[in-house]
Amino acid sequence: MPQSEYDLVIIGSGLAGYTLAREFRKLDTTARLLIISRDDGVFYSKPMLSNALAGNKTPDQLVMKPVEKMREELAADIWLETDITSIDSQAHQLVSSQGEVKYGQLVLGLGAAPRQLPLQGEAADQVISVNDLTAYRTFRQQLEGKQQITVIGPGLVGCEFANDLLRSGHQVQVVGPDSYPLSLLLPEAIGQRMQKVLAEKGFEWYLARTVDRIDRQDGGLKLTLSDATELQSDFVLSAAGLVPNIELAQAAGLKVNRGIEVDRRLATSAPDIYALGDCAEVDGLWLPYVMPIMNAARALAKTLASEPTDLVYPPMPVVVKTPDFPLVISPPPKAAGDGQWQIESDDSGLRALFVGTDERLLGFVLTEEKVKEKQSLTKQLPNVLDSAPSP
Ligand SMILES: Cc1cc2nc3c(=O)[nH]c(=O)nc-3n(C[C@H](O)[C@H](O)[C@H](O)COP(=O)(O)OP(=O)(O)OC[C@H]3O[C@@H](n4cnc5c(N)ncnc54)[C@H](O)[C@@H]3O)c2cc1C
Repeated sequence: MPQSEYDLVIIGSGLAGYTLAREFRKLDTTARLLIISRDDGVFYSKPMLSNALAGNKTPDQLVMKPVEKMREELAADIWLETDITSIDSQAHQLVSSQGEVKYGQLVLGLGAAPRQLPLQGEAADQVISVNDLTAYRTFRQQLEGKQQITVIGPGLVGCEFANDLLRSGHQVQVVGPDSYPLSLLLPEAIGQRMQKVLAEKGFEWYLARTVDRIDRQDGGLKLTLSDATELQSDFVLSAAGLVPNIELAQAAGLKVNRGIEVDRRLATSAPDIYALGDCAEVDGLWLPYVMPIMNAARALAKTLASEPTDLVYPPMPVVVKTPDFPLVISPPPKAAGDGQWQIESDDSGLRALFVGTDERLLGFVLTEEKVKEKQSLTKQLPNVLDSAPSP
């Protein structure tokens, strides 16, 4: 088997892998850099997958840069459709489907995979999840000519897809065990308002229940829910959450929890192996969003270029792409401790402030016209993660 040798190897060509490579190249133009990816390596904006329909964007229009351009800009070798079989952290070596690679430093940007639901029924395999551009192409092809769409999962991504489908002329049903949308991120009063406003726009909600079976019926699909409700549907999209890709790290003996465990230097438990993005849990925090990746990539690039740097997460509000219910969320950090939501509402929307026992603002949620207050409130928030080293 051929053996190659690189100073830095990055596994993954998603936002995490490519942003890190770009930041690293700003600091080091000569290191031998290899990016290995399981997919086709095109650079695209994943957040756009859940609002491309109404914006009339085809999957091809979501491609920001082809892989040839990435190779040139990053002065990197990029191996595509390549799987990693194993990592030997002591020998600083990995085995891939294209051969063995010796690395100086290794970065895991492996992302996360859609949660698979335990569905019964002859058509259970018809369900599709969209977490990359390839799956999005399939989604768009299969959506052709379909009218009644069921989205499983009333979380952030599920609600975004449902709103996009609604705005592009489909009928949408949203099903999930939560008692209100975005229940992991929103206080109940806001979730209920979101549910009400989106119902007025056309969302059909089937909350506090799960999909148990999917069968074929009359050329379409019949969904049976846990409370025996039956729904007719033409197409089912599952957005039931993501599970970080930790298997490769686990098999290599690295410490994992929900994600691959890293400290504030993005270092795993093995020497010279780092992780960032949706696969990584930074000092106990798993934040599968764009802003944490951008901040992590900048800090890690410096560390890899011989300037050890602790990651600092500033406040990073998430703008939810539900245009029929504008929403911005800056969840209180888990370590924030005690506090409570103070919620005010008027005709222009809701403002929920999470205030700590010392009266400091720790998080917020803004809806509708109140989203305009995002910047001024963000300035008042503390960092999500400060540079103090992990205990
Ligand atoms: C529909 C949708 C909308 C979103 N909208 C927003 C938003 O509005 N705002 C926001 O902040 N966040 C949003 N997010 C989240 C954000 O897009 C992700 O956090 C981010 O794109 C994750 O990037 P990543 O590089 O960590 O993972 P990925 O993009 O999943 O990349 C992982 C890479 O690893 C490769 N890989 C995995 N395993 C292996 C292996 N064994 N060998 C080789 N290669 C491997 C894959 O091929 C891929 O290239 C959204 C997510 C989705 C799904």
